[in-house]
Amino acid sequence: MRPITRSALRPYVCPSCRSGRFVGRRRFGSKPDQAPDVYDVVCVGGGPAGLGLLAALRASPLTSKLRVALVETQDLQKARAWNLDSQQFSNRVSSLTPSSVSFLQKIGAWEHLDTDRAQEYQEMQVWDGETDSRITFDWSADSSPFENLPTVATMTENANLVRGLLSRIAASGDENVSIFSNTTVSSIENGTDHPDGPDLSAWPVLSLAPTGAAQSQPPTRIAARLLVGADGINSPVRRFADIATEGWDYNRHGVVATLSLADPDQVAFPIGTRTAYQRFLPSLGGPVALLPLPNNHATLVWSTTVENAAYLKSLSPKAFIAMVNAAFRLPMTDLKYMMRMERPATSASDYEDSHESELTWRLQHTPPASHAPPMVNGVQEGSVAAFPLRFRHASTYISPRVALVGDAAHVIHPLAGQGLNLGMGDVASLSKTIEYAVDHGMDIGDTLSLERYTAERWAVNAKIGGVCDMLHKLYNVPGQGPVAWGRSLGLEIIDRLPFVKGFLMKNAEG
Ligand SMILES: Cc1cc2nc3c(=O)[nH]c(=O)nc-3n(C[C@H](O)[C@H](O)[C@H](O)COP(=O)(O)OP(=O)(O)OC[C@H]3O[C@@H](n4cnc5c(N)ncnc54)[C@H](O)[C@@H]3O)c2cc1C
Repeated sequence: MRPITRSALRPYVCPSCRSGRFVGRRRFGSKPDQAPDVYDVVCVGGGPAGLGLLAALRASPLTSKLRVALVETQDLQKARAWNLDSQQFSNRVSSLTPSSVSFLQKIGAWEHLDTDRAQEYQEMQVWDGETDSRITFDWSADSSPFENLPTVATMTENANLVRGLLSRIAASGDENVSIFSNTTVSSIENGTDHPDGPDLSAWPVLSLAPTGAAQSQPPTRIAARLLVGADGINSPVRRFADIATEGWDYNRHGVVATLSLADPDQVAFPIGTRTAYQRFLPSLGGPVALLPLPNNHATLVWSTTVENAAYLKSLSPKAFIAMVNAAFRLPMTDLKYMMRMERPATSASDYEDSHESELTWRLQHTPPASHAPPMVNGVQEGSVAAFPLRFRHASTYISPRVALVGDAAHVIHPLAGQGLNLGMGDVASLSKTIEYAVDHGMDIGDTLSLERYTAERWAVNAKIGGVCDMLHKLYNVPGQGPVAWGRSLGLEIIDRLPFVKGFLMKNAEG
């Protein structure tokens, strides 16, 4: 945790400012002896977590009168104007658990999302590519505390969520709320004791700098009674607070894409039921998941080695589609072979692709998979991308006048689709903590007030992050050896015990 005096000596300064990009401007614009603009809550980061917190604070009668500000480097005007055709989907999609959807409904944000673009699913098929053992998760009243949300999860584009949250915040009026978009936090340090003004010596004071695209000039310095870091994995707020993180890089990438499916999802479940599929591919570095979107589309998350990700990204659309279909159907040996096939020198879009013909031939010699998803027949242009997968966990989520939420506090492997859900859990908990402090006349920035938040969230997030990490390691042991035997046995036992599955699903709710 940061000692108050140490931060004053070693303030956080962003790399571009250290190298001098903003130095001239800051010297020109800021007068350190002049008292900064004071806010009750300043949130750095306008991603799902930061905007979720702002929307929650605005929704509660206890906290809606707080003076709040949000600072975001990117252009939130673009996020407000985000609009895609109903047959097109962003490649950044998250599976929101019923608990996250219920929270968004409670703060009045869900009705601001375009729910025609969101897709619920009620079943999830998960199986081991080496041993074929599997587990089926389905919604049932026994396993879910949310009876009005009969789903395992709801697939929602992150951009739809962000736009909906911005719209919810706008609907709450502009009194007491300032959003500084196209604005970066260039440095954070403890303030000073102003002889004729407030004593801000223990308060974080942020220096703001407009990015090139800023339409209006933000204030140069703002002070926060409570500074919230919702500023992602490289959180400047976390560095200012001197909060250590533990973690590692998985040396894996998550390949994402928007896909179209050949047939409606016709599996042996009741009509209207949608299914998500995940197959663990131990010899290729991680699982491949196909999650449903509206209008017979699906989103792909294929966690694999950096080399495989680069290979997949370099394929023609036809070859990429063949690889995705193969990933859910072929034995590991065939799949590994196809992952090493030479790519055609020229675009083979007019000809039969060699991956496609290889898949057709191999499928003739492979018993049909009983639980494979519908065949993929299209990939949306420009939607194939890859993101590095990492694990990080902050040693605490609070320090005097500072709280961390979302990826600033924890980043986990996406194999259980929980990262953003944990962030929503943080936001629900922190907004409740602030509400409690306001209601009881406490200082919202005091660690005594904030302790409730870290106590409620740290262990829960550590547990879920740890389980995802353990699953990643367990399902990266290739071959049919004792580890494969053990994990198959475990999976099949759990599959036969509904109460254990119910317990797992409730715990995955965070
Ligand atoms: C391949 C993949 C698939 C995933 N799938 C799922 C899923 O199915 N379900 C799920 O729950 N999660 C999923 N996740 C995780 C999820 O995407 C993240 O947890 C979530 O987006 C994090 O949101 P956030 O608001 O905490 O952080 P971010 O979205 O990173 O937002 C941080 C914001 O802070 C801003 N910022 C940073 N520094 C500054 C600064 N100095 N000044 C001003 N602003 C600043 C940034 O511009 C950014 O907008 C997945 C992740 C990956 C990689």
